[in-house]
Amino acid sequence: MSESNTFDLLIIGAGPGGYVAAIRAAQLGLKTALVEKDQNLGGTCLNVGCIPSKALLHSSEVFYNLQKHGAEHGIQAKGLSVDLSTLMKKKAGVVNQLRQGVLQLVKKHGVQVFNGHGRLAGDGKVEIASGKSSITVAPKHILLATGSNVIELPFLPFDGKQIISSDDAIALDKVPKSLIVVGGGAIGLELGSVWSRLGTKVTVVESLPKIASTFDDDVSRQAQLIFKKQGLDFSLSTKITGSKKLKTKVVLAAETKKGSVNLEAEKVLVAVGRTPFTDGLGLETVGIELDERSRIPVNEQFQTVAKGVYAIGDVIPGPMLAHKAEEEAVACVETIAGQSGHVNYAVIPNVIYTDPELASVGIGEITAKEQGKEIKIGKFNFAANGRALAADAITGFSKVIACIKTDRILGVQIVGRNASELIGEAVAHMEYGGSAEDLARTVHAHPTLSETLKEAALAVDGNAIHSA
Ligand code: FAD
Repeated sequence: MSESNTFDLLIIGAGPGGYVAAIRAAQLGLKTALVEKDQNLGGTCLNVGCIPSKALLHSSEVFYNLQKHGAEHGIQAKGLSVDLSTLMKKKAGVVNQLRQGVLQLVKKHGVQVFNGHGRLAGDGKVEIASGKSSITVAPKHILLATGSNVIELPFLPFDGKQIISSDDAIALDKVPKSLIVVGGGAIGLELGSVWSRLGTKVTVVESLPKIASTFDDDVSRQAQLIFKKQGLDFSLSTKITGSKKLKTKVVLAAETKKGSVNLEAEKVLVAVGRTPFTDGLGLETVGIELDERSRIPVNEQFQTVAKGVYAIGDVIPGPMLAHKAEEEAVACVETIAGQSGHVNYAVIPNVIYTDPELASVGIGEITAKEQGKEIKIGKFNFAANGRALAADAITGFSKVIACIKTDRILGVQIVGRNASELIGEAVAHMEYGGSAEDLARTVHAHPTLSETLKEAALAVDGNAIHSA
């Protein structure tokens, strides 16, 4: 590496936060460098997160639907089996194609990519180490986008074989006979669904009394009911307290409402969340202290306490989501370039990509009530929607929560097929400050699942057309 590098902006970490920031910065005319310690760009999301998990969800769904529902369509699909190595190759192909795409994009924009470990080295300086060589650069601005890592439980240390993380669970070489998933959030439910569809006996253990705990009770109840029909088991209000590894299984000690129990399975997937990643980042050299949840504190412009040092994405407070990181990337870089970047945190959608999918934006019924808001609610069942009936997607509902006084939409929650796509319309209406009536009077193509959202908006004032 040479020392002749002068940059307007140097970004550490090339996940959806970092690489998006690099592209936007280049578009705005900033001379930009991107430092990534891993071999590939794309971060958690592309390499071990959003993308591989969705590829596995799709493949396993094709198998599951043919096996369970083929006959209903006159498709004779007896003796179906899965070749796991082909299925994994398909996933790898998707990931590789996107890796190449991201690399080409940043290069096309003239971003200089350093493959190495970035570390703050005192005021305004960054040391980039690769193998035995290292250089120190002094960019005008530094952006930290180092993301997050899986949380390990002290009594369930990862060994990559019997006690595994999501990184391992997207790359198993054999379908396990049984799997305990510790954590009933997005990652646990998605990967639990994948392996359950492929033939594993999956039990989801959750310390809270419900799964998908950020969603309203009716949404998570409905989802759990359907997952149960699909073969997943649930042990709610259950706290794991210890583990014992035997040759062919792991035995977990757990406390339930009814007392102590032992749970056992061939493998245990620990999916209890992620923690910001700042190892070896040299934060102490510029006086940055982490908050109580190990996050880098920033102000509204994403500035840290160190002059010229900014941070975005999973490493700062807020939901750990790829699209949140991307929005922050754009807003932060635009601010650095003298524009007025902004992220509307009130309308960040949240999705669980199971079947049915769960999607929400804004506040739910529970939060609205906790905040003392006077609300009115409209709900519409997929069972009363023509397209849902034609597409075997009759379970679930759309739900619109609006302010009684202003009719403004405060939140939307959907449990049903394609909720991840349907929620986009709710986000757009909320972004523009739309009311339930605005949504209700928007023309929707027929027959589409999106009509469930229109009908839910109509139902806010008791005017749904297709419900009794
Ligand atoms: P990351 O993507 O974590 O990227 C950080 C990058 O920084 C990494 O490449 C890392 O190697 C690099 N780095 C760290 N330190 C250094 C250093 N010192 N020097 C050089 N490089 C460094 N989110 C969604 O929105 N939708 C989903 O469907 C979804 N599914 C997920 C499924 C799974 C299984 C997992 C694990 C996560 C999922 N997420 C999903 C979360 C999403 O992946 C993260 O929110 C997102 O990747 C955060 O982006 P980021 O840029 O902040 O950090």
